[in-house]
Amino acid sequence: MGKVYRTVLFDGDNTLLDFDAAERQAVEKTLAARGFDPTPERVRAYAQINRALWDALYRGEVEQGWLLVERFRRLGKMLESTADPEAWNLEYTDALGECGAMLPGALELLKTLRPHCAIALVTNGQQAVQRKRLRDHPMLPYLDGVFISQELGVRKPEAAFFQTAITALGADPGTTLVVGDDLLSDIQGAVNAGLDSLWYAPHGGDSPLPTYRVRSLEEIPPIVLGTA
Ligand SMILES: [Mg+2]
Repeated sequence: MGKVYRTVLFDGDNTLLDFDAAERQAVEKTLAARGFDPTPERVRAYAQINRALWDALYRGEVEQGWLLVERFRRLGKMLESTADPEAWNLEYTDALGECGAMLPGALELLKTLRPHCAIALVTNGQQAVQRKRLRDHPMLPYLDGVFISQELGVRKPEAAFFQTAITALGADPGTTLVVGDDLLSDIQGAVNAGLDSLWYAPHGGDSPLPTYRVRSLEEIPPIVLGTA
């Protein structure tokens, strides 16, 4: 028997939720609204701009409010568009909130774990997007808590973010596991907070940071239940 976890803190985007699909749909919709053919190249260009800015945010180099508009200023510049980046971001955020699709196997994972441990969502995603998405969401009955960084005033990878969640849940840090796809926010955050972590890395990769690494969601229950 391995260690048994009593609380699991799940990241949302690209861990339980299919963020890539939601992002693609939202970018396509807002590109088309501005008269641009929503080609895969343009969607990919946006994703790269956005990713680089979020990485800069995690390194403490930029502010979130600036980032959200800046990504569309950069995309607009690339497309030689005069579209207002602020309005573009608002429209994009709205479209993003409409798509709450889960990754294959994610709901089954929550159902499997539910009888054995407390489950919470810990996300750095925008409050407006996450709240809109979670309204009547099928995963809600399986969650004991939802922690959104914009509402708490601290974000992953800050230790205080995870400590706030643990205190609110009345969880034991020694039997709490952080599960996420992002090394910078989720896994480094767990390390900062002194928690065990599980890196969901469907595309592979290597890092000395996580306690566990899996490539599929199906591998998670045996680790949480200590039967791996
Ligand atoms: Mg994620």
